[in-house]
Amino acid sequence: MNRRAVLTGLAAIATVPVAGYFAFSKRNLGDTKQITGSGVTRINKTEAEWRDILNPQEFAVLREGATERPNSSELNAEKRPGTFVCAGCDLPLFKSEWKFGSGTGWPSFYDYIKGHLETSADYKLVVPRTEYHCARCGGHQGHVFDDGPPPTGERWRNNGVALKFVLA
Ligand SMILES: [Zn+2]
Repeated sequence: MNRRAVLTGLAAIATVPVAGYFAFSKRNLGDTKQITGSGVTRINKTEAEWRDILNPQEFAVLREGATERPNSSELNAEKRPGTFVCAGCDLPLFKSEWKFGSGTGWPSFYDYIKGHLETSADYKLVVPRTEYHCARCGGHQGHVFDDGPPPTGERWRNNGVALKFVLA
């Protein structure tokens, strides 16, 4: 899975200049938006711009890949119907019906909104893990494991501070 994610990422990078070239004649010179494979339009901000709109905890997780303390998020107890969106850019990431009690102290989901998350290999610990981030702003969300419940068997372990809950 890691290998495939890396290869997909390389393919995406490789296609950007090509797509940009062919779109060139139809777009304004000032238009620097990049389109990901899923059709989500990338948001690119400077570090200073992110610090303006994120609090220090959000910045540490979303922009620096930190992990919040377990059981520190109010979203652990959130059970109402709704949608969990990226705290950096409001892109919908998880539906409430996919949330389950993982007992880990972090909001956990067994599925996600397709095309709205991207994965990469994370070598911070001895054993490589699969990191995932928002497809629109690139903000780090959490890590995905293969010990989740059916039907997917996936466990998307998310930092609560990287999410906002939108009541249905
Ligand atoms: Zn985002």
